[in-house]
Amino acid sequence: MNIHVLTFNPFQENTYIIYNEQTKEAAIIDAGCMFEKEQQQLENYIEDNCLKVKYLLNTHLHLDHQFGNHFVANKYGVLPLASKEDEPLVDALPEQAALFGLSRFKMESQQLGGYLENGQILQLCGTTCQVIATPGHSPGGLCFYFPEEKILFSGDTLFAGGIGRTDVLRGDYRQLLKSIHQRLMVLPDETVVYCGHGPHTTIGHERIHNLYLN
Ligand SMILES: [Zn+2]
Repeated sequence: MNIHVLTFNPFQENTYIIYNEQTKEAAIIDAGCMFEKEQQQLENYIEDNCLKVKYLLNTHLHLDHQFGNHFVANKYGVLPLASKEDEPLVDALPEQAALFGLSRFKMESQQLGGYLENGQILQLCGTTCQVIATPGHSPGGLCFYFPEEKILFSGDTLFAGGIGRTDVLRGDYRQLLKSIHQRLMVLPDETVVYCGHGPHTTIGHERIHNLYLN
């Protein structure tokens, strides 16, 4: 599985394009492209690599992770999949934007095409993806775990040296810590963690060095 990251929007959100080198089947995780030039960047990467976008997945539906959903849905005919608990954040996109002083920008929300829940297994890009619910940063926070690849997409649940903020948009600090300890720290140490913001890390590294978890 190939992984390409594009960092978008004023929040420096990581949008991941994952794909199978042979079949070119691709999935986009957290389409954060907000401006036209960012949408163009995403489109260029997909075209240049002849990718077929089959899935649009959301770790959660905070504004910076859903800005590009409408564009991707229109362009590639795939609807976003996310947890039901975060669905209210779709219609609340204008309120989320207002909270961060972004109301002057035109943005369209995109309704979900279906729900993902804890333990669900998806077959994508020629491999298996396991959905892990990690509420706390948002009520419906999800991580996407690829056991055969030893890779986790953690959204804003876990960062290199940090954890997601819980002071805004329905976050819950205790719940977030519980999610991380019970559902992420049980994964193998060598699991590479691709985060919603900032650089990637590993479960083993965070287990030892992440001050929030000790
Ligand atoms: Zn977030």
